[in-house]
Amino acid sequence: MNSTDAKPPLLPINVAIFVVLPLAALVLVPAWGVYHGYDAFQWLWALAFLYLNGMSITGGYHRLWAHKAYEASPALRWFYAFWGAGALQNSILIWASDHRRHHRHVDDNEQDPYSAGRGLWFSHMGWMLRDYKSNEADFSNARDLQRDPIVMWQDKHYVALTTFMNLGLPILLGLWHGDIIGTVLLVGLLRLVVNHHVTFFINSLAHYWGTRPYTESNSARDNGFLAFLTYGEGYHNYHHIFQTDYRNGIRWYQWDPTKWFISLCEKLGLASNLVRVPDFKIQRAILDTQFERARRELDDSPAAEGLRATLEREYQLFTESINQWKELQSQRYEQKRNALEDALSEKRQQLQEKWDNAALRTRFRELEFSLKMQRKRVALLMEQVQLQAAQAA
Ligand SMILES: [Zn+2]
Ligand SMILES: [Zn+2]
Repeated sequence: MNSTDAKPPLLPINVAIFVVLPLAALVLVPAWGVYHGYDAFQWLWALAFLYLNGMSITGGYHRLWAHKAYEASPALRWFYAFWGAGALQNSILIWASDHRRHHRHVDDNEQDPYSAGRGLWFSHMGWMLRDYKSNEADFSNARDLQRDPIVMWQDKHYVALTTFMNLGLPILLGLWHGDIIGTVLLVGLLRLVVNHHVTFFINSLAHYWGTRPYTESNSARDNGFLAFLTYGEGYHNYHHIFQTDYRNGIRWYQWDPTKWFISLCEKLGLASNLVRVPDFKIQRAILDTQFERARRELDDSPAAEGLRATLEREYQLFTESINQWKELQSQRYEQKRNALEDALSEKRQQLQEKWDNAALRTRFRELEFSLKMQRKRVALLMEQVQLQAAQAA
């Protein structure tokens, strides 16, 4: 017997949830559709449940609990705890602990519970079907969550909660509507299966398919189409480098309903201290990646000797900008400290401070702008490199 080929045993409950339920949905949902039909009420409720579950995973389980990208009031946390349980993806505690391990050991086949290196199927759902060693519960990375009474309450009553949200609520809805079977099939079963797979896309497809503008140090990708399916989580390359940002799609036009929901909650007083990574750091990550890529391409094309010098000059400028930025940061820190010390001083001083702050802000903005311009120049340079390479070939 070859022991290295032996796979860990299957987990019967997980197989039932992730294999039997989708098969049942595949057969029963269309069968009832042909036999009896569904109406707009049922479709709309299924869609509402889909978003309530999905966004409780992305906004609650993921961005709030796993990454602490903002703070949420108890009302919002209860909301997430109930609707998140309805997504049937385990309790907040287990989910967030697994996910923190995913970020810490991303692509490490031994320690990342859903490492993309073990294949598309494994990272999508294979990892949940067997008793893999990388799934062993270890809450040493979730002590903060163990102090959250809502998290612990949800963990303790998880089975009852998820049964009520997935079966109890659709039955009540069906009773009200006069079609229990149809409502349970659409709002209960089909919605559950669809939400499962779109969420799993984040671990599977979002580590295979898309671009890597911010970092090439891991397999995570940005993908606008996946973002549309995953409540905004498709900007996964950005997310893996700046995981504490409450946004995944940082541009206003990027589809990220989770980010919009969180900022709406902020306006309603339900969320606070939203983390936004400064634009300079974002630009810096993009440029860093561009430089790396440009150097690699230049190494491959000996014809581009002249361009190499230009690139190194640009890199020099880049390093200078970063040093200036660090200098400004420490000045700002100094000012804040002084302001605290002189908290009781006169108005004149306050005015002076205000002026200083405005001057600092302007310089920050100038630096951000210069990085943006540099990004364009480096992109242009890359085009030249590729052109030369094409001509040489
Ligand atoms: Zn990931
Ligand atoms: Zn994450």
